[in-house]
Amino acid sequence: MFNATKQWVTNMTGIGQGTISPEAFETFWRECGSVHADSPTSFHKEALTKFQKQDRRDIHSLTDDSTYDPATKVRFVCTSDTHNQTDRYNFQVPDGDVLIHGGDFTQSGAAKQVEHFADWLDTLPHPIKIVIAGNHELSFDPMTTSDPNIRERLIGRLQKSCTYLEDSSAVVCGIKIFGSPWQPWFGNWGYNLQRGEECAAKWKEIPDDTDILITHGPPIGHGDRVRNGIRAGCVDLLQEIQLRVKPQYHIFGHIHEDAGVTTDGQTTFINASMCTLRYKPEQYPIVFEMDKISDETFLVSAPAKWNLSDPRNK
Ligand code: 5GP
Ligand code: MN
Ligand code: MN
Repeated sequence: MFNATKQWVTNMTGIGQGTISPEAFETFWRECGSVHADSPTSFHKEALTKFQKQDRRDIHSLTDDSTYDPATKVRFVCTSDTHNQTDRYNFQVPDGDVLIHGGDFTQSGAAKQVEHFADWLDTLPHPIKIVIAGNHELSFDPMTTSDPNIRERLIGRLQKSCTYLEDSSAVVCGIKIFGSPWQPWFGNWGYNLQRGEECAAKWKEIPDDTDILITHGPPIGHGDRVRNGIRAGCVDLLQEIQLRVKPQYHIFGHIHEDAGVTTDGQTTFINASMCTLRYKPEQYPIVFEMDKISDETFLVSAPAKWNLSDPRNK
C-alpha cells in the first residue's frame, strides 16, 4: 500500500534541552515560560535566542515495513481535522492496529456531521480507534452545546464506533494514551481556555506515565506555525511535556497549515491535520510504531455525562 509517511520532514525548532543541563533548562522555563505564557510568538523568539537552532532533517518514514512485526509492535495511524471532508479523499487511510483522531472531525458538531464521521470510522479496518474532540465539536463542549442531552446522545453515538477520550486515558498493549480536547482561546469555539493559568491547570491533569499524548492543539514551536509566521501553540503545554510528562509521542492537529513531524530529541510531535488551511482534504495520515509493553489493553470511553473538571467554572 501507498506509504503515507514518506513526504514528511522534521522541522527541529530548537526549544529542547539540547546541550544545556537539566537545571538550566528548568530555570529557563521558570523565567521565560511564565513571562510569555500568553504571547507564544514572542516566547518562541526568546527561546530561539537561548537554544541553538537545529537543522531541518529529512525523515523519510516513521515506519519500516521490513522490521514491522505485529507480534511485538503496535502500529498507530494518526489523523486529525478531517472536518467531514472524508468522502473527498483520493487515497486510502493506511491500515494499522490503532487509529488516532485528534479532533475537529466536524464543522460545527451538528448531529448529521457526527453521524457522518462515525459512519466513516465504521468503514476503517483498524481494530482500535481512539478519538478526541476539537474546538469545532461545539455540541460536545458543555459550555457551547445547545442542550446537555445532545452532548450525551452524540457522544453515545460516537462511542459505538470508537473509544472517545476527554481528559481520560486508554491503554493499548501496555502503552498509556491520554487524550484531551482543550486548546488556547481563539474565537468563540468549543473547549477554549485562556492562556496562562487556565491552560496550565488543565495540563496538570495529564498523568506522569503517559506514553502517547493526544491534544487537539499543538504545543509552542511544534506544528503550530500559522501562515503569517505567528506561533499559535500553547507555552504551558510544552512546559508540562518537557519538564514532567515526557511522552514518547504527542499527536495533535488544529493548525492545518503546519502538518508534519517535529522533535525536541525527547518527544516526537505529530501534527496530523488532514485538511489544508482552506479545508481541502489533501494531507496524509502519519504512521508510527511502538514496541508492545505488556498484554494490558483497557478501552473505556470518557462518560458522556459531564462530570469532568472545567477550569472555566470559577
Ligand atoms: P480550526 O478552525 O479548524 O480550529 O482552525 C483552522 C485554522 O485557524 C488553523 O489552521 C489556523 O490557521 C487558524 N487558527 C486556529 N487557532 C489559531 C490561533 O490560536 N491563532 C491563530 N493566529 N490562528 C489560529
Ligand atoms: Mn481544524
Ligand atoms: Mn481546531
